[in-house]
Amino acid sequence: MIHVHNFIDGKYQPALSGATIPNVNPSTGQVYGTIADSDENDVNLAVHIAQKAFPAWSQTSLDQRFAILNRIADIIDNKMDELALAESTDNGKPLWLSKKVDIPRAASNFRFFATAIKHFSSESYYDHPATLSYTLRQPIGIVGCISPWNLPLYLFTWKIVPAIAAGNCIIAKPSEITPVTASILGEICNEAGLPAGVLNILHGTGPNTGNAIVSHPDIKAISFTGGTATGKHIISIAGPMLKKLSLELGGKNAAIILDDCNYEKMLKDTVRSAFSNQGQICLCTSRLLIQDTIYDRFKSDFTHLVSQLKVGQPLETNYKIDQGAIVSKQHFDKILSAIELAKEEGGIVLAGGNKITLPPPFQDGYYIEPTVIEGLNQECRTNKEEIFGPVVTLQKFSSLDEAIQLANATGYGLDTVIWSSNTDTIHYLANNAQSGIVWVNCWLVRDLRTPFGGVKQSGLGREGGWDALRFFTESKSVTQQFL
Ligand code: NDP
Repeated sequence: MIHVHNFIDGKYQPALSGATIPNVNPSTGQVYGTIADSDENDVNLAVHIAQKAFPAWSQTSLDQRFAILNRIADIIDNKMDELALAESTDNGKPLWLSKKVDIPRAASNFRFFATAIKHFSSESYYDHPATLSYTLRQPIGIVGCISPWNLPLYLFTWKIVPAIAAGNCIIAKPSEITPVTASILGEICNEAGLPAGVLNILHGTGPNTGNAIVSHPDIKAISFTGGTATGKHIISIAGPMLKKLSLELGGKNAAIILDDCNYEKMLKDTVRSAFSNQGQICLCTSRLLIQDTIYDRFKSDFTHLVSQLKVGQPLETNYKIDQGAIVSKQHFDKILSAIELAKEEGGIVLAGGNKITLPPPFQDGYYIEPTVIEGLNQECRTNKEEIFGPVVTLQKFSSLDEAIQLANATGYGLDTVIWSSNTDTIHYLANNAQSGIVWVNCWLVRDLRTPFGGVKQSGLGREGGWDALRFFTESKSVTQQFL
């Protein structure tokens, strides 16, 4: 059994109430540990500790921050096997994926912001006859970071690292569903010399711990990644308190596939963009829009490739699995009911559509076949609502205007993927896509310097690069007139 405690003031400790919640291994459906269930008393304690740490941390030199953040990255690299095993056990994702994406990306988040903070500059202006104005960028103080379960350490570090680099002290909450790697990060930060109290990690449920963080008057900014409904709830509490907010929310992303694209690359990348991490990435393409001239060919080739994808227990080493377990029973049931809804709405299942029962000891784990559905128009719930699982729909279009109209016809606006070799087409679609991110002839290629975030119901604000450092600092304009 793994017991996940809070990490406050550089020390592990249970929730003050002693309350815990069970942690379930999604590959077996069995409880394999407990998690501290923190409430507002734990948040009060963590804020008090963070306030004590803030004056010293906000005054550290950039060289010191650079060195500590890089040391953390090095230790993450050294603990790759331990962290990847913990991530895949907790989340259900294939072990190779944790090793290839999640854990290396967590390390690169530290390296990226270690360097970025040294290059972070602010504006200065001179006006005749003798006025100089410049902008200071100062840390906010105590900030809250709340992250989801789908890319646990990857997204947790994507938030906390710019906040630390900018000189803030943090109250952070990973998802209660996947708390283990964030917990291990505490000891890594101690080993790397991050002063106690700079990063405080609280565990527990959203309504209990998350709510207490969002509503604490001394936590001045909230960076949140998760569902749109939760994001709106957070706004309703933090908005009237005039907190700074950065919200990365859900998506219902479209890939627009034209007949002049590099077909083989498109096919391979589209399978990946639909089913990576069991389709549980906010950036996954869940609606494939295909030009009518290649619809039948694509449908046949895509369905064939999808039906060959291997689903297995996340730590499988006898053969390479493409998909592991769905993260929780609740989410598993939600995805299966979304597939049933698609059938009721008239959808035809071309591949998958069922749960999978693996041999013991994995018979109670949460496994779903990669699923492809056609025959639904853009007006149905299946094509409007986020499923966040291994389920994609196919739709046909005959003109560029129709393609972009279909792509934009949801309440979300996170990313759009364009497959074409015609630059006029690409620019037309990229310009008209209602999304914060556009990928052309690729998917999930991330340059960490670029702004990251969505429009419409997909979020508020941007993370990444300078945007993250701007979010975690307050600007102060100073104007001097020379005598
Ligand atoms: P949730 O919104 O359920 O949870 C996200 C985080 O918020 C968790 O830590 C959760 O805690 C916490 N939380 C839940 N309720 C509250 C509350 N009332 N107050 C404060 N915190 C709360 O999302 P999921 O974890 O289910 O993640 C999946 C969603 O995240 C999908 O919609 C997906 O699209 C989105 N997402 C968006 C990304 C983006 O960059 N735009 C990236 C990745 C995911 P707990 O889990 O412990 O209850």
